[in-house]
Amino acid sequence: TTIGADLDRITARYGDREALVDVPTGRRWTYRAFGAEVDAVAHGLLALGVAKGDRVGIWSPNCPEWVFLQYATAKIGAILVTVNPGYRTHELEYVLNQAGIRTVVALPAHKSSDYAAMLAEAAPDCPALRDTVLIGTESWDALVRVGRAAADIDPDRLAAIGAQLDPEDPINIQYTSGTTGFPKGATLSHRNILNNGYFVGELCHYTEQDRICVPVPFYHCFGMVMGNLAATTHGSCVVIPAPSFEPAATLAAVAAERCTSLYGVPTMFIAVLNDPGFGGHDLSSLRTGIMAGSPCPTEVMKQVVERMGMSEVSICYGMTETSPVSTQTRIDDTLEQRVSTVGRVGPHLEVKVVDPDSGATVPRGGNGELCTRGYSVMLGYWDEPERTAEAVDAEGWMHTGDLAAMDEDGYVTITGRIKDLVIRGGENVYPREIEEFLLTHPDIIDAQVVGVPDEKYGEELMAWVRLRPGAPELTVAALREFCTGRLAHFKIPRYLHLVDAFPMTVTGKIRKVEMREESIRLLG
Ligand code: ATP
Ligand code: MG
Repeated sequence: TTIGADLDRITARYGDREALVDVPTGRRWTYRAFGAEVDAVAHGLLALGVAKGDRVGIWSPNCPEWVFLQYATAKIGAILVTVNPGYRTHELEYVLNQAGIRTVVALPAHKSSDYAAMLAEAAPDCPALRDTVLIGTESWDALVRVGRAAADIDPDRLAAIGAQLDPEDPINIQYTSGTTGFPKGATLSHRNILNNGYFVGELCHYTEQDRICVPVPFYHCFGMVMGNLAATTHGSCVVIPAPSFEPAATLAAVAAERCTSLYGVPTMFIAVLNDPGFGGHDLSSLRTGIMAGSPCPTEVMKQVVERMGMSEVSICYGMTETSPVSTQTRIDDTLEQRVSTVGRVGPHLEVKVVDPDSGATVPRGGNGELCTRGYSVMLGYWDEPERTAEAVDAEGWMHTGDLAAMDEDGYVTITGRIKDLVIRGGENVYPREIEEFLLTHPDIIDAQVVGVPDEKYGEELMAWVRLRPGAPELTVAALREFCTGRLAHFKIPRYLHLVDAFPMTVTGKIRKVEMREESIRLLG
């Protein structure tokens, strides 16, 4: 099936149930109203001349119009290009041209980002770009108005277009987070992301009773697939707490909207748990949720279960190129499995752990590169066949670049990215393991470890640490003493850098590349 057809199925079944709530503006839609809005936008795009296969960009923090456009483009077979709201003109121009975007929809401005001005600046250098539609202004209103009128005149047109669509058609280009380098445009089909959203929702046991608080950005698969598509395939409701992540707004939205599920990358959960207003909100409606996107520390997972009541919380592991989820913890896994592994392979998918050099599958328990195969693997990187061939092999395995181990029962543990592995004096050191350990220190609320070049050992370890507000100053000697006797000597950080925040991508991932560069500068 296709995304549009699936939405029609759900709208017919759950028309009176709530589909979408925008907390900042108080606007809300039932599935019936949501479906009508989507159809109006789809007709409006057709009136602009957008056809199947055309690229339509969305450049905006989270808002309801984002979601309408996601489904409207899918209904007419246009390819939605989700542009990172953190981009500036240089990256914007790259994406507009790389994907050949013909119509771009944007919020005029948010906080310090003047999207309209940046688009005006980039447009002359983007020959494919024909229309710029600004949400909340006359250009957006006109699109919807024209679309509504067209829908009244020709109500069967979308169904006729829908009948021509193929589940294998590309409908989405998502650029990767750019954690390790310049973003790549993963091209995804209906089949890729509709199935992935559906199975994520199945494993969270979503029904039409669920209300999912989504503070993660829609432009990334965490928001648009694991959030929106997991919800709409189950008749659940998406709650937008704020245009971009704010811990206080997230807590308030969960309480006010009685959310049953909450999403976040680990740093977001850390921020929510440490928010000064944490204790003042009624979080008793929470049942489940998802932590994903980067290594999920066991300590933080335990707090999410114990202090937030998210007893059925799940961890997902995946990447943009695999729609995204490859492995997920199940509600009936033991608590230990649910806080310390990324679970088992998802339904109808395969994973294996291989020696990155020889390609041979390593024995259970051994470390190697994780590979994924199945319906979720992207069609390819947009217009980059060579990079696609490097990532997906001839047998269809996506080589993730992540190091992992799989136990006898199939539970996977992510040990880090191949690029982040530190080799100190010939020993492989997984920063992840040290970070987990540092979090057991009572004054440390977040820790990240990187390798820095060292003449004697090849690499040495530097720990970047965020202390609990009000905690006494931590010295490197005290930190080393804390580790001594509990960590092997070669895993004990040589350097300590105290920070208030880490360099991050808009998706909330820590940019270790930047941390390494800064660490080298600090050591002078
Ligand atoms: P780029 O590919 O541009 O460098 P990126 O890999 O961060 O950026 P994404 O596709 O958003 O872009 O992220 C996927 C990566 O995030 C995975 O390859 C993995 O390294 C990390 N990741 C995702 N979920 C988890 C998890 N639960 N535990 C550990 N790491 C995770
Ligand atoms: Mg990646």
